[in-house]
Amino acid sequence: MLTVEEAQDAILSRIEPLAVERVDVMAALGRVLAEPVVSRALIPPWANSSMDGYALRAADTRGEPVKLAVVGRIVAGSMPSRPLRAGEAMRIFTGAPLPDGADAVVPQEDVAADGERVTIRGRIETGACVRPAGEDVRVGDVVVQPGHVVGAAEVGLLATLGYSQVRVFRRPRVAVLSTGNELADLGTEPTPGQIPNTNTYSLMAQVLEAGAEPINLGVAPDRLESITERLQWGLAADVLVTSAGVSVGELDLVRDALERCGAELHLWQVSMRPGKPITFGTRAGRPVFGLPGNPVSAMVTFELFVRPALRRMAGARAVDRPRVRARALEAIANPGFRRGYLRVTLTRDGNGYGARLTGDQGSAILRSMVLADGLAVVTGDTTIPAGDAVDVILLRAPS
Ligand code: AMP
Ligand code: MG
Repeated sequence: MLTVEEAQDAILSRIEPLAVERVDVMAALGRVLAEPVVSRALIPPWANSSMDGYALRAADTRGEPVKLAVVGRIVAGSMPSRPLRAGEAMRIFTGAPLPDGADAVVPQEDVAADGERVTIRGRIETGACVRPAGEDVRVGDVVVQPGHVVGAAEVGLLATLGYSQVRVFRRPRVAVLSTGNELADLGTEPTPGQIPNTNTYSLMAQVLEAGAEPINLGVAPDRLESITERLQWGLAADVLVTSAGVSVGELDLVRDALERCGAELHLWQVSMRPGKPITFGTRAGRPVFGLPGNPVSAMVTFELFVRPALRRMAGARAVDRPRVRARALEAIANPGFRRGYLRVTLTRDGNGYGARLTGDQGSAILRSMVLADGLAVVTGDTTIPAGDAVDVILLRAPS
């Protein structure tokens, strides 16, 4: 049996980013940049005022009250009509360019003005209330590196720099197949002995959350031909993900079906709980994953193995979830020799987090995932006593 890290390495070493495409800047939100964003401009292009007030020369203010002649008015969107000379001030508004000769702005609430003259009390420092040219970005600055995920601030910066389109990595298309004679799909009434199909939906949602596009291959009964046929429908996708049927029972046919479709399987069992029977292979260079059937096992193995692969394919530099150290608020036990990924809720605990188990950790108890802010990573045959620190993979921001 492989360790989780060995399995992750075996998977990621076979994964490459997908092709690059140009998209409109708004469509780039959440995507991964495939090119550096280089500034072609100075931002802001000229020194400008950060306040409504009066532009002046700092040297004209000496500490005692001085009167300056108001010789002009500059609003945002226009340029000053002439330079500023000694003993002069100009009315200026936020964002308006500073006139040549001026080196400071005094806010209007700090002065007495009578239209023609303005009285300044106290000493104004050079640069006060002035945003210098290029304080944000200079020409040639690499403002965002490739591999970086585009967020709202990046969209704004791209627009500022005049990028109406940008090169990003293609989103992986992920075909999801559930297998099992017992499954009744959403919208159909389970017959006696059947259970609702959970995994298709939780896995497709995880695909979406990973920034990829799910394709629903539905449910295949436990028959080699049926599974193979459904898998064929998904062969155009970038990734195949199946659930269930990867154990050692005689109805566990997914591995055979994947091989029939031309996949070469690279690994099977990983020493973890929940999980263990997870299959990874490649078909024509494209990854295929056979995840276990229990709903929690399917989601946790997706987290640890499929999600990093999808992030890598989507071009991301950082493919792992953040981890935090948390204080166990109760004993967290991991019986059995396999490493445990135990569902915990996190609460604020001083400057850090406190972790508490979500309750029963059975791999069929999906409520444990609903309640989970993270997965506590615990070595086999180990109990973390209350008060000790534990490593937690963050699945979401704790509330
Ligand atoms: P298997 O790996 O086929 O032995 O399945 C393990 C467990 O997961 C069984 O209890 C199955 O009924 C259950 N299971 C398999 N597929 C699904 C699914 N799509 N939704 C909910 N439970 C499932
Ligand atoms: Mg089964």
